[in-house]
Amino acid sequence: MVENFSEWFHNIIETADIIDPRYPIKGMGVWLPYGFQIRKNFFKIVTDLMDKEHDETSFPLLIPEEELAKEGLHVKGFEDEVYWVTKGGQKDLNEKLALRPTSETAIYPMFSLWIRSHIDLPIKIYQKGSTFRYETKHTRPMIRVREITSFVESHTAHSSPEEAEEQIQTGIEIYKQIFDSLAVPYLISKRPEWDKFPGADYTMAFDTVFPDGKTLQIGTVHNLGQTFAKTFDITFENKDGQHEYVYQTCYGISDRVIASAIAIHGDKKGLVLPPAIAPVQVVIVPILFKKGAEEVLDKCNEIKDALSKDNVRVKIDDRDIRPGKKFFSIENKGIPLRIELGPRDLKANKIVVVRRDNGEKSELTIDDNLVSSIKDLLNDIHDNLYKKAWDKFNKSLKLVEDEKDIKESIKEGNITEFYWCGDTECGKEIGKISDEDFLGSSEDLDEDTDKVCVHCGKKAKHIASVAKTY
Ligand code: ZN
Repeated sequence: MVENFSEWFHNIIETADIIDPRYPIKGMGVWLPYGFQIRKNFFKIVTDLMDKEHDETSFPLLIPEEELAKEGLHVKGFEDEVYWVTKGGQKDLNEKLALRPTSETAIYPMFSLWIRSHIDLPIKIYQKGSTFRYETKHTRPMIRVREITSFVESHTAHSSPEEAEEQIQTGIEIYKQIFDSLAVPYLISKRPEWDKFPGADYTMAFDTVFPDGKTLQIGTVHNLGQTFAKTFDITFENKDGQHEYVYQTCYGISDRVIASAIAIHGDKKGLVLPPAIAPVQVVIVPILFKKGAEEVLDKCNEIKDALSKDNVRVKIDDRDIRPGKKFFSIENKGIPLRIELGPRDLKANKIVVVRRDNGEKSELTIDDNLVSSIKDLLNDIHDNLYKKAWDKFNKSLKLVEDEKDIKESIKEGNITEFYWCGDTECGKEIGKISDEDFLGSSEDLDEDTDKVCVHCGKKAKHIASVAKTY
């Protein structure tokens, strides 16, 4: 699976009916009904968390060229990736309009109209919508796409740098909860100066590791400082009657996280879904014979009703196909738990349950505790996926003390950590030597540390890492 990861991944998203990549525009795919339900469950988790902290809004998809170009650093970071709308019908437009690659330049001119006084602050909003990037690298369904469908981006404005800093922590905590609920492990790093979000003071990023040893960025949180406030003239009158620029943060997450969950938990048999996003968490398979079929079906329905009453997503699979074929397709869809019930089981007042995550088969008695026992099993499945994924992830983190060992460690598929002085030029050198991406620093060292930078030998300030990236 590791060797043919790419093939395995493509296969899984097609056979499990998640995405049809054959849409006639490169880098844009169609979410199929089953995939869309996974997506829906994912976004429910995301928006429930977002709603607690922000107000949802919706900004236009098109951004005037003039606004996009206002923040020099920002536009430079995106200039090769922007799709432009230049015509309205037959007529050339007076001004080019960009399909948003991200929404800072759509949102902040409005912030400048809305914010007058310190009582208007903080503002914390988010929106969910497509963003577009004209990717020139090889596109891959769900991983590198040209339309990021449902990018959830948050934008906040504050009256003090401390408050903005606090918001960064809040953003990070929210993202941790999202990844945890999908059992997707992550490393949080401060991206290096040369790779931060264009226009940001600094960027915190979450990276996870795919089975092929490449890392994927799955979420970023940016402290924008006052850069955009100055560009878009977003000021407020403070308590002393003076005008100040606001302090801003923004952070974004997309359905890429679903790709990670699929890649990380899947196995040879195909998709393995964490219960939190599985469209069907429990499937009940009646084992039917001519005799007693009705009683078996009645019991299956009874169990189904009891489970759905308790918010378990459950269905009965009574398709008239051979059990082997049926089990195969259930496994393929990644359904966490399969229940089998035949006349003999019914007589013994029990059901057979089979876990998708580890294939374990066991029996449960049909009694008042049945629903809670099944829910316990679903929790166990989540915990097992979580533990397995983190164990593997932690094993792929390797600290090397000698620069010579970096290359080899990356080849082995590791996120390779080392001591770093924090100097930009030095960091770029390390990135060059290893031929891979410099993820950033994940830990700050004490001032009295005796560790030294792997490249220059000066006192180290951070533990940083490089890895192969998507
Ligand atoms: Zn150094």
